[in-house]
Amino acid sequence: MITGPQITLAHGGGGTMMQDFLHDVVLPRLHNPALDDLADAAVLACPHGGELAFTTDSFVVQPLFFPGGDIGHLAVCGTVNDLAVMGAKPAALSLACILESGVPMDVVARVMDSVKASAADAGVPVVTGDTKVVEKGQADQMYLTTSGVGWRLPHAPAGWRSVQKGDAVMVSGSIGHHGVAVLAARAALPFTTPLSSDCAPLNGIVGLLLEAEREVRWMRDPTRGGLAAALNELAVQAGVGIELDAAAVPLADDVKGAAEMLGLDPLYLANEGRFVVVCPASRADKAIAVLRSHPLGRGAARIGTVTGPMPRGRVVMNTGFGGTRIVDMPSGEQLPRIC
Ligand code: MG
Repeated sequence: MITGPQITLAHGGGGTMMQDFLHDVVLPRLHNPALDDLADAAVLACPHGGELAFTTDSFVVQPLFFPGGDIGHLAVCGTVNDLAVMGAKPAALSLACILESGVPMDVVARVMDSVKASAADAGVPVVTGDTKVVEKGQADQMYLTTSGVGWRLPHAPAGWRSVQKGDAVMVSGSIGHHGVAVLAARAALPFTTPLSSDCAPLNGIVGLLLEAEREVRWMRDPTRGGLAAALNELAVQAGVGIELDAAAVPLADDVKGAAEMLGLDPLYLANEGRFVVVCPASRADKAIAVLRSHPLGRGAARIGTVTGPMPRGRVVMNTGFGGTRIVDMPSGEQLPRIC
């Protein structure tokens, strides 16, 4: 077994170790057509027509509160965004809480206030839930699990099978804010301006894009493992190469500076309010214009191109002056408990 004798933090890192774990341990036992795609949400045919998208996520972020968000905001946005990027209109969420005995009630109440505000912002009700409490020391304050269902829109993207050579690759805004914000909060790093997470519900902007542009082929929210993991997953699944232009990847100065200081590559930093879009190159300018018309897409940019069939997929980045570097799938765990 290539995944090792014990679970390590790297098995939850969204990189090759997690992929190996899924393919060695989970999929051989549970495989079915809906699961095998390992998409952001499973797509299920409804008996009376239409398609249902169904997803679930657990949240273990530490600290619970960070600039730009908290575990409650993250739990709502993470699940709403997984539905949104599958071309589904979120309909309802569940919320399960695992609480450590001794956690102050006002901490739990603040998180619930945040769940309420985020759910209202996304326009999605929390319709069911569960609460469990474990002994002090057997959990770290609070873990949340949200599941969500949504109805696939008529123009939902066909997914990785539809991605073709020459397609444009875009991102909805500057990358890496969530990763550096949580890390800075965790380490109490003394940045002069506080770095803020990009955490936000994407169903509004995705709905706007799909309404205006009917040829979107693939979307993903680049969370753990960042843009690098999301694009490598596409490259491997679709069997294509992807060429990125380093200068075109939107990166805020504060994130760039913090990442340099921390020795982290922004391409691998988590995002919780950004999404990647692939569409035909001829539609890219329009798609960018639509994205930029929404407050969450002001920094949208075309960052690269699908380059055609590759046996195992590969992402490369043009770094200027004719230089290129390979953008690998992350392997281990860069930042545990980032979401
Ligand atoms: Mg996702």
